[in-house]
Amino acid sequence: MEIVEYSRPRSIDEALRLIRDRGGTPIAGAAWLRTNAKTMKLGVDLSELGLDFIRETASGVEIGAMTSYRRIETSEVLAQRFGGALGAAVCHVVGVQLRNIITIGGTAAGRYGFSDLNTVLAALGAKVVLYPNTVLDFAKYVEAGAEVPFLIEKFLLPARARAAFSQFRISESDFPVLNAAVAKTETGWRIAVGARPAATRLCPRAMAMLGREARPSDAAIAEAAAQATVELRFGSDIRASAEYREAILPALLRRAILEVRG
Ligand SMILES: Cc1cc2nc3c(=O)[nH]c(=O)nc-3n(C[C@H](O)[C@H](O)[C@H](O)COP(=O)(O)OP(=O)(O)OC[C@H]3O[C@@H](n4cnc5c(N)ncnc54)[C@H](O)[C@@H]3O)c2cc1C
Repeated sequence: MEIVEYSRPRSIDEALRLIRDRGGTPIAGAAWLRTNAKTMKLGVDLSELGLDFIRETASGVEIGAMTSYRRIETSEVLAQRFGGALGAAVCHVVGVQLRNIITIGGTAAGRYGFSDLNTVLAALGAKVVLYPNTVLDFAKYVEAGAEVPFLIEKFLLPARARAAFSQFRISESDFPVLNAAVAKTETGWRIAVGARPAATRLCPRAMAMLGREARPSDAAIAEAAAQATVELRFGSDIRASAEYREAILPALLRRAILEVRG
């Protein structure tokens, strides 16, 4: 990564102006950006914008775009409100040093197929706020993207939900072969599956099978887990074949649903 001109704006309006009017590239932790050899004509460092926060609000929880994985992993607020799902999604990512710089905003902006955190955000029914005032359903945003250029300000999470994350990796710090997250929210059960290897998607028919029942039966759980394999498409890459991913998904989902059901 080569940066020709570097800017560290102090206001989010100025950051957006540089991104929109001057073709600037947002820089969060630069953990992913530095893995490519592109030249950036203007790098816009987002670190002075006050976007590193986890806040409890009247309607839920807000997480600023520059909040690090480590902060998410160690947040008592997030653990109390959503169980261990968010922490479980980020704790596999390499090591603490990297998790101290990787951000939730850089993760969402990339809409990476392998992302673990994006799968949990989709299952929780999170919303993403693009500055100044565009609020998008996170799962739809991952699917469709946003008009570019954009600046993610924060994420809106519900007040609380029982949630669980499950994944399969060949080795601890490798990218996942497949991941899944399940949440029981006020609107019912939600199921998201990522690293297919394409990006995370909800499974609406499997979700409907579990309905609003707090304690679905073992048979309903098995049916919903099987249904998810029918409504998703899987691909092959160096980590696994499409058939392998499809075969292991029901086990990942059953585990996550049983964890939430308790
Ligand atoms: C070695 C390594 C291993 C990894 N392993 C895993 C893994 O196993 N599982 C997993 O889920 N993830 C993994 N990741 C990815 C990681 O979780 C992050 O998704 C990624 O590194 C984002 O990094 P960052 O926050 O530093 O963003 P950056 O690298 O700074 O930016 C990433 C992209 O987002 C844009 N951007 C950043 N912030 C914003 C914003 N607020 N608004 C708009 N655009 C923005 C940037 O312009 C850039 O295009 C890994 C990353 C690395 C480097």
